[in-house]
Amino acid sequence: MLKKYIRSSDTLSIISRVAKENAKGHISGYILAGVCLIIVATTTAFSAWIMQILVDDVFVNHNLKTAYIISGSVFAVYLIKGAATYIQDVQLNKIANNIVARYQTRLFDHLIRLGLSYFHKTRSAYLVGQINQNIAGVRNLLNMLITVVLRDLLSVIALLAVMIYRDPILSAMSLLIAPPIIVLVARFKRRVKRIARQGVDLNSRVASSMQEATQGIRIVKAFTMESQLSEKVRNLAAAAEERANKMARITARTSPLMETLGGVAVAGVVAYSSYNVIVLGGSPGDMMSFLTAMLLAYEPAKRLAKLNVNLERSLVDARMIYEVLDTPVHQRDKPDAQPLNIDAGEVVFDDVSFFYDGSSDETEPVIKELSFIAHAGKTTALVGPSGGGKSTIFSLLQRFYNPEIGTIKIDGQDIGDIKIASLRSKIAYVSQQPFLFEGTIADNLKYARPEATQDEVIHAAKLAQAHDFIVATPQGYDCPVGENGVTLSGGQRQRLSIARALLRNAPILLLDEATSALDNESEALVQSALETVMKDRTTIVIAHRLSTISNADTIYVINDGQVVDSGTHSDLIDRDSGIYAYYNSLQATGVPDLQKNGASTDPAPDTSTKQHENT
Ligand code: ADP
Repeated sequence: MLKKYIRSSDTLSIISRVAKENAKGHISGYILAGVCLIIVATTTAFSAWIMQILVDDVFVNHNLKTAYIISGSVFAVYLIKGAATYIQDVQLNKIANNIVARYQTRLFDHLIRLGLSYFHKTRSAYLVGQINQNIAGVRNLLNMLITVVLRDLLSVIALLAVMIYRDPILSAMSLLIAPPIIVLVARFKRRVKRIARQGVDLNSRVASSMQEATQGIRIVKAFTMESQLSEKVRNLAAAAEERANKMARITARTSPLMETLGGVAVAGVVAYSSYNVIVLGGSPGDMMSFLTAMLLAYEPAKRLAKLNVNLERSLVDARMIYEVLDTPVHQRDKPDAQPLNIDAGEVVFDDVSFFYDGSSDETEPVIKELSFIAHAGKTTALVGPSGGGKSTIFSLLQRFYNPEIGTIKIDGQDIGDIKIASLRSKIAYVSQQPFLFEGTIADNLKYARPEATQDEVIHAAKLAQAHDFIVATPQGYDCPVGENGVTLSGGQRQRLSIARALLRNAPILLLDEATSALDNESEALVQSALETVMKDRTTIVIAHRLSTISNADTIYVINDGQVVDSGTHSDLIDRDSGIYAYYNSLQATGVPDLQKNGASTDPAPDTSTKQHENT
């Protein structure tokens, strides 16, 4: 009993939350639609009510004048009904479309504010697929309620009133079919809830498999994964189809139920009303009016019976939306957070320890009592085996996560006490795999500093050795680039990413050097672009190339979350032992980078736009 109560109160609380958050601003639209729905309900009842006059006055008493009046008024009433239906339809759709736009905006705003850990736990393609379905589902929640409650419930009430007015005993008898319908529909509702969630899950998995396969199409083809992925999608799609069919069967189950019980009621009424007119001398008009009201009440009553089931589907979507919207944004500024004041730009890690939330071994930190200094205006290289913690150091410095113990300071200011936006505005980040967003080349550069002028954009691109290839594209700076910049080579994308960092003009540069090999010309251009961007900035570079390491002012060898060695290139070479010497010897024997095992496992990126493509 208690469980049942909690369930229904949960339903009510979700409906009221959806209503509270969305009805505001649409009150006048809802009132207009409501009035129209009331008109529709009244006109329906009028058709039943008028039957009595038609039968008794026109058919029995042969009064032709009344027939003309009835005919005229029925026509007028249907005109009004048509207009009212149109207005409420347009109004409610307008509101529903606005609700979709609102949820889309709110969900996006919230998602991009969630911490990185949320995105590590949730597959992005799956999330997008799920959200799209949920929004489509919740779109109709309020409209369904309004239409069904105002139009259908009112129609049923008005028609019931006509029925009771014509014959109260017969009305009471026909209402006997209501209780079994209510009980059976409640049982369907529970099954709908479970299946709706499974359906959303399966459809999201189909959508995410498609998105991931297209994003990783190079790997798909390189590893001839086509048939395996096709098989996976086929199975998922079949499972989703099966769920959808199951849902259709359950939703439709209200129909045979209603038809059977409705048939019993109508048959009973036909038999009784005929007996009433023929044997008991009742008014044929009353009986005709009763029967019409009952038949007209049938469709809206069917929709009312289905409401519970359909509502449950939308509620599943609403619940899933709120699961996302209610995920707390973990990283907020402290109440007294200050902006970062950069003087020289010295970065200090002081005894920092950190472990990832939910990592397999939480007792073992990923970063262990790590201390190092990146001197102002100098280049500091982080080297060491893969998994040592270098990327985590970058994440901590950008405050994607907060360290458990220890402090990170920039020019003496603890970054934990600083406004996150201010901190990040002082840091330019060049990632290993440059990500280009949908839009033009200029758009992509300007994300670094939206207020930058066209001249500044061009200047940055020139310094980053990107200008020449940009102007060589058909539309120059206005050339659109795809999700992953597929029309640009790896070296070109890296130079765009360097131009973006230059445009940001931040005093601290974090550079995650690409492990993948570029052709010699690209390599030289990228190196020259990097030298420009590193000049006079505090640069911390996750270094994989010997040239970068040998040019660095200080090198820290990071292994297992700790600094295991440090010094200049020659210091480290002089010291015979240590991990750095080991990596240096690997490099000398021709292994191209300093990753663990000496080579990157990433396939080399495309270095040119392919003219002849083999699939
Ligand atoms: P590096 O950049 O030196 O290769 P990382 O900083 O990426 O090293 O990783 C350090 C350790 O932290 C590794 O053991 C890795 O598995 C773990 N790790 C990295 N990112 C996450 C994450 N988001 N959640 C849990 N563990 C992570």
